[in-house]
Amino acid sequence: MSNKGRFLATDKIPGLLKRLGGTYRVFAPVKVSDTVILFHEFKEGAQLALNKQATLPPKEILFPQTECLLSYTYHKDPENLEKSEVQVEETLEALPTIIFGARPCDARGLMVFDAVFNDGQWRDPYYKARRKATTIVTILCTQPENTCFCTSVGGGPTNTEGSDLVLTPVTGGYFAEPATEKGGALLQDEAFALGHNKADEAREEREKVSLESELELDGIAQCLLELFSTDFWKQVSAKCISCGACTYVCPTCYCFNITDETAGVKGERIRTWDSCMFYQYTLEASGHNPRPTKVERYRNRIGHKFSYHPTNYEGMFGCTGCGRCIKACPVSLDIRQVLREVKVHG
Ligand code: SF4
Ligand code: SF4
Repeated sequence: MSNKGRFLATDKIPGLLKRLGGTYRVFAPVKVSDTVILFHEFKEGAQLALNKQATLPPKEILFPQTECLLSYTYHKDPENLEKSEVQVEETLEALPTIIFGARPCDARGLMVFDAVFNDGQWRDPYYKARRKATTIVTILCTQPENTCFCTSVGGGPTNTEGSDLVLTPVTGGYFAEPATEKGGALLQDEAFALGHNKADEAREEREKVSLESELELDGIAQCLLELFSTDFWKQVSAKCISCGACTYVCPTCYCFNITDETAGVKGERIRTWDSCMFYQYTLEASGHNPRPTKVERYRNRIGHKFSYHPTNYEGMFGCTGCGRCIKACPVSLDIRQVLREVKVHG
């Protein structure tokens, strides 16, 4: 990659994002408060925060927290009021989009989404169209945080899978290397200077990064199946307060609910994020709930990510090791500790 690399000085980034904004919707991590960094649509003067993982992953850009899937109108036949027709209008809009400043775990999170929504037997046209229209610019992690465990689940701080353009932090800015044609096209912008004198520094920076694989996950899918009917989950989930925060911050969680919201003869079909950690998620119309307590729900969360997901999707865990659920959990349930205990007891 490096012979095609370019240098992007830090002070050129706002100008670059502004110019790209003429063609694309451009999202970048912005400092919202001392402790919160969120992907926002870029506006001139925004305080970019590119040196840390964002508080939330950029999944909402491709899979909005609330979206209208279609709108509809009923037309009653005035001659026969029992007869009506429904007119349906598509609402899908997939504008060219750039996610600037994702992390390798964020890009990998979208690969988990791809397997579920884009590549399998059932494809989601909404996600698929947005994914096609989106270019991912990833900043490699030269300083992983103490909650990061991407190397334990098949990724890594310098992993380029799922990215279109890869930025390595170097003195004064970033060394930019294309990973796909879409990413390479961005290098035409005037912000990118000749970069051959930065290629060695970028390689050295990547080689310096060390994040040991701290979890031994071989055979974890089977361990989870063996623990399924044991009291293990009662003890592990005891602290959980079923708030769902772990699922909302997760770059790989994709549970959703669909409702029709009708007013008079018009309505919209709305998709909203949901969480398998909530009682209502599996509540059936009959009143029966196959996951009635947090014990079954927590078991499902871990089992899905580390057993059912890899079984269904060629070994890929439904977790990128981003550590956000560890940071967000109000009762400090640490998924790494749970996985260690699964290996001990399973
Ligand atoms: S389960 Fe936790 S560590 Fe894994 S991807 Fe989701 S938020 Fe990140
Ligand atoms: S964030 Fe923690 S307390 Fe909240 S549902 Fe997840 S594990 Fe339970």
